[in-house]
Amino acid sequence: MTKFATESAMSPELLAKYEPVIGLEVHVQLLTKTKIFCGCSTRFGDSPNSNVCPVCLGLPGTLPVLNKRAVEMAMRAALAINCTVHEHSRFARKNYFYPDLPKGYQISQFELPLATGGWLEIEVHGEKKRIGITRLHLEEDAGKSLHDGFPHSDEKTYVDFNRCGTPLSEIVSEPDMRTSDEAYAYLTTLRQILLYTGVSDVNMEEGSLRCDANVSVRLRGAKEFGTKVEVKNLNSFRYLAKALDYEIERHIGIIESGGRISQETRLWNQAANRTDPMRSKEKAHDYRYFPEPDLLPVHVSPAWRDEVLRSLPELPAAKRTRFVSAYGITPYDAEVLTGSQELADYFESVVKAGAPGKAAANWMQTELLRRLNDSGKEITASPVKPAALGELVVLVDSGKITGAVGKKVFATMFESGRSAAEIVTAEGLQSMVDSEAVKAVKEILATAMLAHLERLDQFREGKTAVSKSLMGDAMKLAKGRIKAQAFQSELDAHLTSNAAPNSGSLGSTSSQITLEWGKGSEAQRLSVQLPGTSVAVIQFKREYPELWLFNQSAVTSESNETVTKKPDEKED
Ligand SMILES: [Zn+2]
Repeated sequence: MTKFATESAMSPELLAKYEPVIGLEVHVQLLTKTKIFCGCSTRFGDSPNSNVCPVCLGLPGTLPVLNKRAVEMAMRAALAINCTVHEHSRFARKNYFYPDLPKGYQISQFELPLATGGWLEIEVHGEKKRIGITRLHLEEDAGKSLHDGFPHSDEKTYVDFNRCGTPLSEIVSEPDMRTSDEAYAYLTTLRQILLYTGVSDVNMEEGSLRCDANVSVRLRGAKEFGTKVEVKNLNSFRYLAKALDYEIERHIGIIESGGRISQETRLWNQAANRTDPMRSKEKAHDYRYFPEPDLLPVHVSPAWRDEVLRSLPELPAAKRTRFVSAYGITPYDAEVLTGSQELADYFESVVKAGAPGKAAANWMQTELLRRLNDSGKEITASPVKPAALGELVVLVDSGKITGAVGKKVFATMFESGRSAAEIVTAEGLQSMVDSEAVKAVKEILATAMLAHLERLDQFREGKTAVSKSLMGDAMKLAKGRIKAQAFQSELDAHLTSNAAPNSGSLGSTSSQITLEWGKGSEAQRLSVQLPGTSVAVIQFKREYPELWLFNQSAVTSESNETVTKKPDEKED
C-alpha cells in the first residue's frame, strides 16, 4: 500500500474487495505578522501568554478588527488551488466550550466561505489525478493546552493563549482520494503550493499545518459511501499514511465480521500504532453557528482579486513542465529541482551562469544536495553559490577539467568557499590538451606497468582482469587530469598488441636497434631506438626473463640520457 505502511495482516484479495474513500481537512496557519483580529504578534516560541491582548483573550467590551493581510493570504492560497474567491463572504460564530478558547466561541466562516470549488492535481505512481477542493475559509486559531513540563503538570493543565487569534485557512477536499498514497500526495502537493505562494511556512512540527482525515470504505463498484470516521492528530505525513491504512483495515475487518461502523472521531495514537475513539459524532456538539455580529461581511472586489492573482508566482506544476521543455531535463529531475522555490531558483541561476541544463541538474542532485544534506544545510545557506557552481559545470563541460577533478574541486569549493577557477589554477588541475594527454597517457601507463611487470604476464596468460588494476594505478597517477576513456583505449591497444610474448633474444630486431643499459634500478632498463619509431624502453627483469617491448616515447625524459642514438626527427 503506502510507502510507510507496516505489513498488512489482510490478504490482498480482501483489501481489493473494498474501495477506501478519503477526504482531508487541512488547517494552515497564515504567515501574517499579527493576529487576525488584533495587533498581537503571531511569532512562534515566545514565552506563554506574552502575545495577548483584551481582544484575543476575549475580554468583554472588545471588538475584533479584520487583518486585511490575512484575507489576502487566504486569497493567494485559494487562487493557487483554483478556487473561486467570492465577492462576499461572512464570518460566523462557532460556539463550543474548551479551556483554550476564552471567548467560548471561535470566529470562523460557515455558510458563506471566502472561496469554493477548486482542485489540485496529484501524481501517484506516474498517474495524474485531479482532487476536488470543496472550500477554503478563514478562521481564528484557539490557544494551546499544555499538559507537561510545568511544576504542577501532574495535577493541572496549563493554557498558553499566544496562538489564540492566529489566522488560519481551513482547506476541505472532496472525498476524491482512494488510497493512503493519494492522500499523502495530496498533502505533499498542497504543502508545496502553500510554500511557493508564501502563504504559510507549513511547519507540521510547529503546528502551522494540521491535517484531519475523513475515511470510509465501500464495496468496490458501490455508489453509496460507507460510514465515515474522522481521524485527528495526524501531525506528520507519516502518521497520515499510517493512520489511513490502519483505519481502512479496521473498517474492512468490522464489515467482514458483520459489524457496523460507528460514525465517530478518532485520534491517531502513535505510541500504540492505532487509532483510538475520541468522541461519537452522534453525541457531537451542535455548534449553533450564527453570523458574527461584530464584523462586517468580507468584500473582495474583482480588482483586488485580480491583483492577488497577478502576484502569484509560477506554481510547482507549471514550473516542472517548463523545466522539462526549456532545459531538456527529465520529469524526475524537474520534480526534485522544483521541490522548493529556493531550489528551483538556484537551478535557474546555475543555468544562467552558463551551465547546460542537464549538467546543472546532475551536479545539483548528486554533489550539491548530498553535501548540503550531510552538513544539514538548506539550499539558501549553501557555501557554493549558483554562479560558482555554474562556473565549475562550464569548466567540466568544456573539457577544461575532467569530471573526476570537478568533483574534487567541488568538495574544496564547498569547504573553502573559493571559486572553481581559483582552485584549478592553484592546484594545476587543468585537463591536458590532447597531444599532451596522449603523451602523458603513455607515460603513466608505462609507469603503472613497470611497477608491476608480473601483471603483464598475467594478462598474457589470459587474466584480463589485470587491465582493471593497471587502469586503477594509471588513473591514480594521472590524478584525474586525464579522462578514463583515454587510458582505456590506449591500454586496450597496448595489451592487445603486446599480449603475445615477445620473448627470446633480441635476435631478429637486435640488428636494427641500439642498446644501452639504463641507470641502475632493480628492474634493469634498456633504452632502445627502433628505426622509424620513437624511443622505446625495453624492460628486463631477472625474475621474468623475457623482454617486453614497450613502444612508447613517453619515458624518453628518463631514458634519453642513456640512449646513444637520439630519435631521428625526420623519421618521426
Ligand atoms: Zn491580541
